Amino acid sequence: MTRLRFCNIAFSPHRNRFELTLLHLSSIILHTPSPMRYFIYARKSTEDKKKQVQSIQDQVRTMQDVARERGFEVVDVITDERTAKSPGRKGFSQLIERINKGEAEGILCWKLDRLARNMIDGGTVIWLLQESDIAEIVTPHKTYLPSENTLVLNVEFGMATQFSRDLKVNVERGMQTKIDQGWFPAPAPIGYLNDKLADKGNKRILVDPNTFSVVQHLWQTLLTHKLSMKELYDYMKEESLLYRKGKLFSRSRFDALFHNKFYCGIFTWKGIEYVGAHTPMITQKEFEKAQEILDTGKGLRTRELQFDLKGLFRCGCCDSLITAESHTKYVKSIGEKKEYKYYRCGHRKKGINCTEKPLSETIIEEQILQQIEDMTIPDEVIEFGLHMLDQMNSNPNESTIEKHIKSESELLNKRIENMENNLAEESEAEIRKTIHARRSELKVQRNGLEQDLKEAIRQRQNPNVEIKNRLELILHAKRTFQKGTAEQKKKVVRGLGLNWRISDKKLEYEPHYVSLALAKTKRSLVRGKHRFELNKSQFQTGKSLSLAEVKSIWYPGQGSNL
Ligand SMILES: [Zn+2]
Repeated sequence: MTRLRFCNIAFSPHRNRFELTLLHLSSIILHTPSPMRYFIYARKSTEDKKKQVQSIQDQVRTMQDVARERGFEVVDVITDERTAKSPGRKGFSQLIERINKGEAEGILCWKLDRLARNMIDGGTVIWLLQESDIAEIVTPHKTYLPSENTLVLNVEFGMATQFSRDLKVNVERGMQTKIDQGWFPAPAPIGYLNDKLADKGNKRILVDPNTFSVVQHLWQTLLTHKLSMKELYDYMKEESLLYRKGKLFSRSRFDALFHNKFYCGIFTWKGIEYVGAHTPMITQKEFEKAQEILDTGKGLRTRELQFDLKGLFRCGCCDSLITAESHTKYVKSIGEKKEYKYYRCGHRKKGINCTEKPLSETIIEEQILQQIEDMTIPDEVIEFGLHMLDQMNSNPNESTIEKHIKSESELLNKRIENMENNLAEESEAEIRKTIHARRSELKVQRNGLEQDLKEAIRQRQNPNVEIKNRLELILHAKRTFQKGTAEQKKKVVRGLGLNWRISDKKLEYEPHYVSLALAKTKRSLVRGKHRFELNKSQFQTGKSLSLAEVKSIWYPGQGSNL
């Protein structure tokens, strides 16, 4: 063995296939442990923590056992503690460099996906193996040799790559599609059933024939007889029993039912409310009425406070986030306690003596409404502009993005086709299974590309979509801000502009260019610069407004040569 080792060193750094074969053969013929040298490579990323991936220590220990059992010589242990999703891992680069220098011939790793989770690294490894710069990659379950079917290698690396790239996107995309279709993506409350028989991605929420009418009866009783929660709970125990997993509903779970908007056809997902596609049990009005009934008699203490504008502003003095809090004050003139909401600096920045004073919610709202007012021009002007935007700038030519997506799709199609051919020829069950799985992943990927393509085409045909959205938003901003939900109000504020801060009790922000254009137009309208007769019929013909004027509203800073 020493002699062979010596040979190795003498002929290094770049051994050819012949030498390696010789090494292999000698170890087989002589029934002696392989003289080859190995690097142990182990990796675990922070993202792997939730998954069933062994710790680096465990991986190394397992591989050391394998090395001992098979009589391998381990040159060094190289580890990476980061994701392998994108190229550029320190340890991995070192590993490749040292293999290229001829310090070892083989790699020991726990699983192939430890080595690479992106195609570039995967390609590097496959290349080194095919060129016989690596004689073998040994995992506890399998040894990969230069003669390895490249398809298998590509599939195994490719699967790892695709797995990390697509999984998250697809799960989220699937879930979002479901949500957008109005289906609550979680267990439905009592009265409803999750459709377990439907195919995945098509799971609706059905009326539960056993419990729907019972729960509905309770809602109706609450509404007609104006019961308190305790009375309603007692009524349930006497009249219409509700069970959960074979046990009578607990009081707290029962409480939660009658505060759940799901029953009036609305569900909340990640803080956003959606209109559900399920059959509502009561109307939204009835739900609100029920909440009022249940709230009466309760002190302010128990009612959950809502700060609609929380998280929107920073402090102009010290840049901390503005937080919200409430104070209850006794108001002598009305002889009642009243609750006031305040927004104040969180004073989170050390070393800055912040002097910003708290501001009441009412004052902030007034200031925002003033901003909206400052850019409110007659609806007709905006609507006319929207109409104009529809007619302008639709580009008939395919965009670069579309071309790119299409060529990627074509490539995918070829790969899928190849896999189908391979499937037809492959008889080994294990490989068939791998190809199958890979093929279906590629199909999912193709589906995603098809959706991207649709979106790209839509954007090309409606290039002003962004401007239109802002205009629509501002068109309804006042009403939405006064009557909307917290989420809608925030959307309005963010739609006006960015970087909102409170400075000397005044709101400041960077208006979006559409907001700026509208405010500018408004000022000139007020000053009478544009002497528009704001008459609907004229706007429909567009005569009172020159095209240049309209365009100057929608395309500030681009001159009038559009
Ligand atoms: Zn501050």
